[in-house]
Amino acid sequence: MRRIAAKFVPRPFKNDQKQRRVKVCLELREKANEDPTFTGISRIITGDERPSTWAKNYPTAAGSRQSPVDIVTSLATSDTSLDSKPLTWNYVPENTREVVNTGHGWRVDIDGEGSGYLITRNLKIKVKLSLCYESVWGGGCIDPRILGLGIIRRTFGLSERKLEDISVARALLHVLLGCSSKEELVGGPLEDSYRLQQFHCHWGFSSDKGSEHTVDGQSFAGELHLVHWNSSKYRSCGEAAGYPDGLAVLGVLLKVGKENPELQKIVELIPSIYHRGQKIAVKEPIDPASLLPETLSYWTYLGSLTTPPCSECVTWILFKEAIEVSEDQLAAFRSLRCYKPGEACPCDELEGLIINNYRPPLPLGNRELRECGSA
Ligand SMILES: [Zn+2]
Repeated sequence: MRRIAAKFVPRPFKNDQKQRRVKVCLELREKANEDPTFTGISRIITGDERPSTWAKNYPTAAGSRQSPVDIVTSLATSDTSLDSKPLTWNYVPENTREVVNTGHGWRVDIDGEGSGYLITRNLKIKVKLSLCYESVWGGGCIDPRILGLGIIRRTFGLSERKLEDISVARALLHVLLGCSSKEELVGGPLEDSYRLQQFHCHWGFSSDKGSEHTVDGQSFAGELHLVHWNSSKYRSCGEAAGYPDGLAVLGVLLKVGKENPELQKIVELIPSIYHRGQKIAVKEPIDPASLLPETLSYWTYLGSLTTPPCSECVTWILFKEAIEVSEDQLAAFRSLRCYKPGEACPCDELEGLIINNYRPPLPLGNRELRECGSA
């Protein structure tokens, strides 16, 4: 598929608007320096109450298993049992479905049901993967590659003539292979198999802040979260979020550097989702595995969702190595709006931009912080 080469250019601010924005940012930064729990921009931008007040409506937010935390590296215990069960994943880029403006940031939804669309030269088929998998192999684990075209033809009710088109056969085989490779994360601290549901990002008003987790007190420019749910025990992400072993989130810290080609696919869609509630289909499949760092050392601890209701259901796996993202890409993220199209902008100082969408760190308490790999 053709890659759009055009570089993302945020809508320019008029000069006086820019000055006003900078002034407000500086004032807020001063306040933030005085009070470490202050996330005033987030409150103004999203219309949410400050994180420190979440517990009023969501008592769990005041619990003892909350996230994020500051990772104090000297407190991490090395655990050889983590090395013996390597963390492995299996993502299908074609299952990245759409990018949504949630009003708090962007989110890429994964087609967790395992259904897929196939569009070939002369045939459009929607295939419910789990169904075809069940019907062909009774849910067993036979590698579809060993099966002939005959069974593919019968499964999809295709005529011999249509299957003569090799592009159709190839595409169907691709979907069938997808059946046996569901989105899955296993190993490391996880006892069960976890399926990718969505991924999203947190960032700040400037690149010296933005991550939710901090490392020895240091913030990063942003943080990606790949949210998985326990598909061994539960039937949906929503159900899983009600249990202590329900979710597993991979956290990837972002630092300023060169442009990230995988995130660029999202950046190019941002002009279509400036406003809250807007969504757009992913044009070029995004490979979640390409968003992970090269060195797979990580810290792990038991924590929570970092947004209300702050459910204490997450096994956190935070990679030690940060990935690079460019200033232009972060600027594109900061151009998203927290209000719906046609709604009045709730914030005249910052034009309703989504800027500080991170929660400050909370105490680790007596929770265990384990690490895998020293790099
Ligand atoms: Zn998150």
